Amino acid sequence: MPKTVAVVGGGITGIVAALNASANGHTVHLFERTDFIGGKIDEWIRPHGRAQSIPTGPDAFLARRPEVAELAISLGLANQLVSPAAGSARIYRDGRLHPLPPSVLGVPASGDLSQTGLISADGAARASLDLDAPDDHPNGDESVGAMVRRRLGDEVHEYLVDPLLGGINAGDSDRLSVVSGVPQLDVLRKKHTSLMTAATQTLAAAPSNPGPVFQSIDGGLNRLIDAAEAELGRRTNVSIHLSTSAELTRGSDSAWAVSGIDTDEVILTTPAGVTADLIRTLAPAGADELEAIDYSSVALTILILPPNTIDIDPAISGVLVPRLCGLHVTAVSFASHKWPDLAPDGSQILRVSVGRRTDERWSQLRDAEVIQLVRNDLSEIFGTIIPDGPAHLTRWMDSLPQYDVGHAERIRAIDDATRHLDGLVLTGAWRSGLGLPACVASGRAATAKST
Ligand SMILES: Cc1cc2nc3c(=O)[nH]c(=O)nc-3n(C[C@H](O)[C@H](O)[C@H](O)COP(=O)(O)OP(=O)(O)OC[C@H]3O[C@@H](n4cnc5c(N)ncnc54)[C@H](O)[C@@H]3O)c2cc1C
Repeated sequence: MPKTVAVVGGGITGIVAALNASANGHTVHLFERTDFIGGKIDEWIRPHGRAQSIPTGPDAFLARRPEVAELAISLGLANQLVSPAAGSARIYRDGRLHPLPPSVLGVPASGDLSQTGLISADGAARASLDLDAPDDHPNGDESVGAMVRRRLGDEVHEYLVDPLLGGINAGDSDRLSVVSGVPQLDVLRKKHTSLMTAATQTLAAAPSNPGPVFQSIDGGLNRLIDAAEAELGRRTNVSIHLSTSAELTRGSDSAWAVSGIDTDEVILTTPAGVTADLIRTLAPAGADELEAIDYSSVALTILILPPNTIDIDPAISGVLVPRLCGLHVTAVSFASHKWPDLAPDGSQILRVSVGRRTDERWSQLRDAEVIQLVRNDLSEIFGTIIPDGPAHLTRWMDSLPQYDVGHAERIRAIDDATRHLDGLVLTGAWRSGLGLPACVASGRAATAKST
């Protein structure tokens, strides 16, 4: 039976939900607070008529999961899938850039860890205790920090695992859930008592030619959004309501209305705090749990530098900065190394992240001050003066949901508290993964459940 479905939130999760529900024959109303759809997939249109825009949010997706590529293919972008030209990362420590030892998300395979210079001889000796230490993995969830510090020592945690994992969600890996936040590490700890042995086995079992780790769309991920928007526009059963901060009401007959439009079902894909506000009177306990999901903020600065300002191998895609280095910058992505089409004139285009859950110093500063901090930190990291030039700062306030220890129980509590609300589905980046593939999967799952 065709129904009317309201989808609230026009990010990738909501877009996928709207595409799926409308493909299933339902009438869809997509509500978006801003005047554009795409949510965090946004771009900076460069000044001076430069050919390409530069992403201010996500620039790629994990290729190991199929969902985003499947979406792109369904939207006619099969031949537009591209992978970065550079994929080798470095970690900054003590004035030098170090290659990463072979690892699974920072958990090193067995071998001489001190060889790359990133981990000291003492740190490497401490880590190797993991090979023979008795099984001390708890049955339930724990933080990545607790697990890695216990098995491999503080140094491996601070200089290898935390920069990699903390960088992904601007989080604090001492609070990040192994079970919900980094399920690959949960697999690792179940595979073998020794994390290093498990990492070695995992790497040995990996295909010899695994293909690209990341993919994107030629010209930027915003083209995926453009294609989705065009597809939604072609469908006569879809209405997009931009600049509409949705409000949710439930009638006495258990029917729903969103911003005055009657609807049979509602899919909320908004950030957890917004979702909490929308359902507060209907399910206060669920709203409390949603509100307890913490979000991190991050500042993303795009810098366009003259060619060869930084003397660095173009095969290097980025540099991670451990928090113990005391800098503001947490990660530097060489956008023009990854996507050379962005800079046909050879300029160096950097996307630089500042801030994490444990460091919000930048949020009190003006844009120009943050950009100056970025230039100072880059000068220190790369040992060269970073000149003034085009720069663009995006403040991603409360943008990255934190999957703390116990996240899975929290999601269960939210589901329990809202189960009585027939026809209501709660999803989004806070639920079962914040990467783009997980968001696409959540958008699909929402429609599978509801329609
Ligand atoms: C700086 C940054 C870089 C990232 N890089 C990557 C990356 O490279 N690869 C990757 O896989 N992931 C990356 N991510 C994560 C990924 O981009 C996000 O998790 C994902 O885009 C979230 O999609 P979403 O649809 O769930 O939420 P959002 O994109 O946040 O969309 C939610 C939408 O709801 C709207 N909304 C809010 N309130 C209301 C309301 N009351 N009524 C109507 N609409 C409302 C918002 O305006 C927004 O458009 C990055 C995130 C950030 C912040």
